[in-house]
Amino acid sequence: MATARKVRHPAATGDKATSLVERKLQALGLREPGDFVVHLPLRYEDETRIVPIASLYAGVHAQVEGEVMHSEVQFRPRRQLHATLRDDSGELALRWLNFYPSQQKQMEPGRRLRVRGEVRHGFHGAEMVHPRVSVAGLPLPEALTPVYPTTDGLTQASLRKAIDQALQTADLSDTLPDDICSRYGLMPFGQAIRMLHHPPATVSYADLIERGHPAWSRIKFDELLAQQLSLAAARAARRRQRAKPLAVAQGDLVQGLRNSLPFALTAAQQRCIDEIASDLGRSFPMHRLLQGDVGSGKTIVAAFAAAQAISSGCQVAIMAPTEILAEQHFQKLVGWLEPLGVQVAWLTGSLTPKARRLAAEAIASGHAQLVVGTQALIQDKVQFADLGLAILDEQHRFGVGQRLQLSRKGEHEANTGGLIPHQLNMSATPIPRTLAMTFFADLDVSVIDELPPGRSPVLTKLISDTRRDDVLGSVVTEVRLGRQAYWVCPLVEESEALQLQTAVDTHARLAAALPDLRVGLIHGKLAPAQKQEVMQAFRDGQTDLLVATTVIEVGVDVPNASLMIIEHAERFGLAQLHQLRGRVGRGSQQSICVLMYQAPLSAIARQRLRAMYETSDGFDIARRDLALRGPGEFLGVRQSGQALLRFADLETDALIVEQAQEALQELRKRYPDHAKAHLQRWMRNRQDYLRS
Ligand code: ADP
Ligand code: MG
Repeated sequence: MATARKVRHPAATGDKATSLVERKLQALGLREPGDFVVHLPLRYEDETRIVPIASLYAGVHAQVEGEVMHSEVQFRPRRQLHATLRDDSGELALRWLNFYPSQQKQMEPGRRLRVRGEVRHGFHGAEMVHPRVSVAGLPLPEALTPVYPTTDGLTQASLRKAIDQALQTADLSDTLPDDICSRYGLMPFGQAIRMLHHPPATVSYADLIERGHPAWSRIKFDELLAQQLSLAAARAARRRQRAKPLAVAQGDLVQGLRNSLPFALTAAQQRCIDEIASDLGRSFPMHRLLQGDVGSGKTIVAAFAAAQAISSGCQVAIMAPTEILAEQHFQKLVGWLEPLGVQVAWLTGSLTPKARRLAAEAIASGHAQLVVGTQALIQDKVQFADLGLAILDEQHRFGVGQRLQLSRKGEHEANTGGLIPHQLNMSATPIPRTLAMTFFADLDVSVIDELPPGRSPVLTKLISDTRRDDVLGSVVTEVRLGRQAYWVCPLVEESEALQLQTAVDTHARLAAALPDLRVGLIHGKLAPAQKQEVMQAFRDGQTDLLVATTVIEVGVDVPNASLMIIEHAERFGLAQLHQLRGRVGRGSQQSICVLMYQAPLSAIARQRLRAMYETSDGFDIARRDLALRGPGEFLGVRQSGQALLRFADLETDALIVEQAQEALQELRKRYPDHAKAHLQRWMRNRQDYLRS
């Protein structure tokens, strides 16, 4: 079994020259032999064979041997070294645009050389530009040559050398017990590792590259298992933390909220409220995700959780990713809870210093029982008297660090005696099953899987922007029926200034084209008070058409709006389109979402638009999105750029995910030492990240 050996790597010792290499290696996270052996190739080069020149074709990487027939330095079109190599079957042109005198010398006619590189179709037939050259006739390697992920200034040669040395000293013994290995048909770890670093030429190249080879399966299994072990450890650690139990509410507050609602809760909402209520009653912190498609009614569920916490005597914080959404929550929560005697405070970055100080004081003294706000809530200066529950709306919009910070707000407080607040995350983005089993394993999930009664699905139309006039006509029709519409401006990712200009222009054009309509404009650069005014006018029905940037993407809830137009829909991501479409279809009337696009469409844009047309099911959308973009987006780690899984792919390796999940339980129960060694091998460098 693997033990943590503190052996310095041979490549990482010695003089100054190696210390530069050492630094580069460290940048790749390679310190100890154990790190090197799991630094696995991206691809391979086949240097085991010499092929006839006549068999070459453009695009292939190949190795040939022959005699230099001719070489010269040419000056047109620019200075370059040109040579011809001949074998029994034909001739190959070689070309260098930069070269040393030594290379020129090497190309003397009559010499027999081995060259390797990518074949192109050049002026004189097959050619290689900047091939690698060695003497002909040297023994050929028996294994494929690995090509490793590397970093600037670190050559494949030094990386290979360091890894080969590590392979001799590292502990390659198995961290998994025999019965688990044989049950899942796993190749022994050491064998898999050696095979992947130096695969014999007989192994199927496709299996190696596409990672279908059993050696890769073993590595993926290990990686997924380690990742799940570490989440299970995090879960166990959370259960050892303490939180204030917030007694299941019989209190007036919860009852009062229920009595005052203008609608009946759906069964799904009620179930989620109950699940949260029972978590809140425990003495370790809740870590729950409330998941429900756009418009399913998550806000009221959060209000019930807040009511329960407040009636148990502690404070609640609700954080939203945009000021517009925070404002909307504030209004709703004030409407629901203030009549019941709850003190609600409001904190965003745009408050005047005085208003902000007053809010901070109310929060610190405990006078504010419920605090609604934006990221401003997690600033250091904000101190809670007794934070018992932290709620994050649209949690996927926050980074991992921000999520952690909000719940830590409670930890700092001396008067809570090390208690950690309960945490409720909310999101419309469903987590695909494989992700739920892996990255979210330490998260309990409640799902609102039904929409409030009386909603009919949004009708989605794909319309080319050449039919703009038809679209304008449908805006007029909708407004005549007493409804309202959103017009989302094209996304301009390259520049914020350009984005703003686009919004202003779009507004001007639409206002001119629709003189009878009241057209509003909202974008990120408006002052918060202005934003508030514009949203309020739209909510009050004083605006017919709201031209908007993606500031309205999440959360905004105006049930009378029934038409959503998205210009240049091909520029938006799938999750974004689904969210935007979710702004309509919130009332009982039939709503329409028009995706205007400009041809020609890229393949991926076409897939996204087709997905939007084919389904309105958020779960299906998320699954397709995962396939198109990979898991980073779901985890809110896009910013950190951290590769989440190096080898396994959640989509294609779903079976291995399940096997690893199954093995996890057994390993923890029956083989705790193996589990520890396994984590040590795979997670040494990644613990910090996973802890969040
Ligand atoms: P989301 O899940 O997208 O955050 P919201 O909480 O904004 O959804 O709710 C969407 C709309 O549905 C709101 O106008 C809300 O008042 C309304 N709503 C929520 N629950 C119900 C219900 N059970 N019956 C009718 N309307 C509801
Ligand atoms: Mg919402």
